[in-house]
Amino acid sequence: MNSVNPLENVQMILKKSCEVLDLDESVYNLLKEPERTIEINIPVKMDNGKFRIFKGYRSQHCDVMGPYKGGIRFHQSVNGDEVKALSIWMSLKCSATHLPFGGGKGGIIVDVNELSENELEKLSRGYVKELYKYIGDRFDIPAPDVNTNEKIMAWMLDEYIKLTGNNTLATFTGKALGFGGSFGRKEATGVGVAVMTRESLIKLGINIRDSKIAIQGFGNVGSNTAKHLARMGGNILAVSEFDNEHGVYTIYNENGFNVFELIDYFSKNHTLYDFKGSKHISIDQFYSLDVDVLIPCALENSITEEEAQKIRAKLIVEGANGPVNYLADRILSQKNIEVIPDILANSGGVIASYYEWVQNISGIDMTEDDVLNKVEYKMLLAYNEIMKIKDKYDVTMRLASYIYSVLRLYKILKLRSRI
Ligand code: GLU
Repeated sequence: MNSVNPLENVQMILKKSCEVLDLDESVYNLLKEPERTIEINIPVKMDNGKFRIFKGYRSQHCDVMGPYKGGIRFHQSVNGDEVKALSIWMSLKCSATHLPFGGGKGGIIVDVNELSENELEKLSRGYVKELYKYIGDRFDIPAPDVNTNEKIMAWMLDEYIKLTGNNTLATFTGKALGFGGSFGRKEATGVGVAVMTRESLIKLGINIRDSKIAIQGFGNVGSNTAKHLARMGGNILAVSEFDNEHGVYTIYNENGFNVFELIDYFSKNHTLYDFKGSKHISIDQFYSLDVDVLIPCALENSITEEEAQKIRAKLIVEGANGPVNYLADRILSQKNIEVIPDILANSGGVIASYYEWVQNISGIDMTEDDVLNKVEYKMLLAYNEIMKIKDKYDVTMRLASYIYSVLRLYKILKLRSRI
């Protein structure tokens, strides 16, 4: 009842930004849908000898800035509208951070916990078999997203090279270090979320060393965000996660966790449920915590009107894509809670992907510091530009980010006489 269709969610704010910019309605009509969405059916011979058919998608939103770019997610809740929305967010993200890419996104409807390693590999290769004609290092460059990782990228790239004979590493990013990957890529999204949190806390007059932080989701983004915030002196008091045995659970420690122990424990046990020195609190208590920052790092629609009413944090930094829907956003803005939106806050991943692509194409290596410094630099540039828009139009950070991105897209569309 509370969940908003993510496509409607992104369209609402896209429309609003076109209105603020007083653009002709054809601009909104062009940007509100992807240029192309491909739906595929992937047959996989399962370990029991029977075939199962999985549905998958690739959405390609807008290529005026460069090749389509964006992750592939494996999740049971994937659907066409979600993938379309995510591809629009990717266009906006790439535009906001001045990357020469357009937005793309893919997904497969699957619960990865139900698959063996062998089935997962067949599914990953099957996705490429159905789509290889529509991807490429100058056309559409996939990457990891929810439940996909460097192992899956390796299978996919290997399949792509086999099918096309095009032996380039640049068609996929987020790869393993030994197979064309880049130093810093894995951590980059979390680094970026931490940097945006640090900057926003400064603006709010809160010293990061005194800050209390709650994180929802402890996957690649959540755990790396926690790690880098801890390095900056931030205190992580609560982490909400999910495991098959307990469902959604939250661990809390009023004195703050040792994040490095938390990460170590999670990598060994794949859950934080029994982490020593923590107590369990309900998900309601999690959202109502008296913290400075709440960082959602899971899926869309985590924060609906219901959660927004409860939230007491002063700042929300969106590690996930679309975690706050527009109904919740209204409430947060009435409550004067600052939201650093996904298209800015979690752009570190795709920025590092861009540098991975650059390294693959140029053959010139970068160090971890090179990559992560560039990520930080690009995000701070975008942050400062978006701040100016926020002040100029007296709007929220979300709307300011959209206005900034849409304006850049509009200028290129105009230059290329596409609108
Ligand atoms: N899946 C990530 C995102 O949503 C990264 C995409 C990429 O690196 O292309 O931003």
